[in-house]
Amino acid sequence: MSPNAESTAFRSALEVIRAVEPRVADAIGAELADQRESLKLIASENYASPATLLAMGNWFSDKYAEGTVGRRFYAGCQNVDTVEALAAEHARELFGAAHAYAQPHSGIDANLVAFWAILADRVEAPALKRAQARHVNDLTEADWFALRRELGDQRMLGMSLDAGGHLTHGFRPNISGKMFDQRSYGTDPATGLVDYDKVAEAAREFRPLVLVAGYSAYPRKVNFRIMREIADSVGATFMVDMAHFAGLVAGKVFTGDFDPVPHAHIVTTTTHKSLRGPRGGLVLCGPELADQVDRGCPMVLGGPLPHVMAAKAVALAEARRPDFADYAQRIVDNAQALADGLLRRGAKLVTGGTDNHLVLIDVTGYGLTGRQAEQALLDSGIVTNRNAVPQDPNGAWYTSGIRIGTPALTTRGLGTAEMDGTAELIHTVLSQTTAGANPDGTASKAKYQLDPALADKISRQASELLTGFPLYPNVDLG
Ligand code: PLP
Repeated sequence: MSPNAESTAFRSALEVIRAVEPRVADAIGAELADQRESLKLIASENYASPATLLAMGNWFSDKYAEGTVGRRFYAGCQNVDTVEALAAEHARELFGAAHAYAQPHSGIDANLVAFWAILADRVEAPALKRAQARHVNDLTEADWFALRRELGDQRMLGMSLDAGGHLTHGFRPNISGKMFDQRSYGTDPATGLVDYDKVAEAAREFRPLVLVAGYSAYPRKVNFRIMREIADSVGATFMVDMAHFAGLVAGKVFTGDFDPVPHAHIVTTTTHKSLRGPRGGLVLCGPELADQVDRGCPMVLGGPLPHVMAAKAVALAEARRPDFADYAQRIVDNAQALADGLLRRGAKLVTGGTDNHLVLIDVTGYGLTGRQAEQALLDSGIVTNRNAVPQDPNGAWYTSGIRIGTPALTTRGLGTAEMDGTAELIHTVLSQTTAGANPDGTASKAKYQLDPALADKISRQASELLTGFPLYPNVDLG
């Protein structure tokens, strides 16, 4: 590849876009400039490679391709078949899974595909058998009515939101909470860790159809072998949502009991977080659930996005290279260096540290809410997001935590020395920010005071920290 190929590709693309709607071209250019300047510590974000980004912007976007590889409801899908088959093959090889489904448009969609595959397998198929019907269309009105009731009467056990679980694991604001009767397992109040005995006890009492593991804000590993034993003991299907840590599984940082693929009946993930691919989802499973998973579209998904599947194939091919394992290890090394740097400066961390790519700071130690801390950090050029901590006194909106993650900065090449510098900047901002008051004198959960001169100084220091680590170094937009 010529040294200027990436610059030429992106410059040409912007020129073509600019000729139609210059404001879009300008916004795309501005987004790159903003991303280059900010210290991005959002645990769920990353920087996809130029090859992954370019694989998305083309005529694959024009194609309808409902169905699966070789079995489409539309003609002319031979090239879509090529990229979907490649994405699935790379996913199977990378994760050691028997079956991979590359169509989900996002993590939420991947979870919906998995939930409906489980319901179809565990509830619908037996009902069809009982009624001696091959297809739901063959059921009598009475049998169909009974099946719909039964589908809506199933239970799910998942991690509580404040312990780090995700809204799609059966919580009421999400469709999963309207589909399932859900109970949560939390973490041990003293250690902040998953208490497997408590999970087993909850499973015995509640007898869920589905046991879900996986998280967006739990800074430790989960033992999936034990979770599978718990699921088996109550006849539950064991599902793992590895959206956040898929990159650590792909990079063989999480192996043995901590690799969900050999232990779970079904695994879902996003492709854009630690896995560093395009925005999208994947489902992995064994042969037992494969046919049901492949019905994801049109069961819950709109038509596949072939351009995104092409990009998934590129990103998964990248993740199969040996250097991805090195990247995954550096993500964790960096998260641990960041945690150590914060702890040394007196920060309070949920579980006292991290085993993965994220750190959860309990900012009540600084006298702040998550909302105040998030905004003060943003004023200082540090992009994070607020997050609930276990038994959070400030609820899910204001929260008491700041979640920080290292996949993005690790992609830029920052290492453990820079993580100590990052910890210094974060600690300085949080310790110099004070909680504000409402006009009536009561404590505000949103208002705060931070000297603007200090915020500016930290912003400059944050960009200095990034100077040796250019983002998309081969892309010069001129
Ligand atoms: N599952 C988990 C554990 C997540 O953290 C997220 C995203 O935050 C999702 C699912 C949803 O992913 P998406 O935003 O791609 O739908």
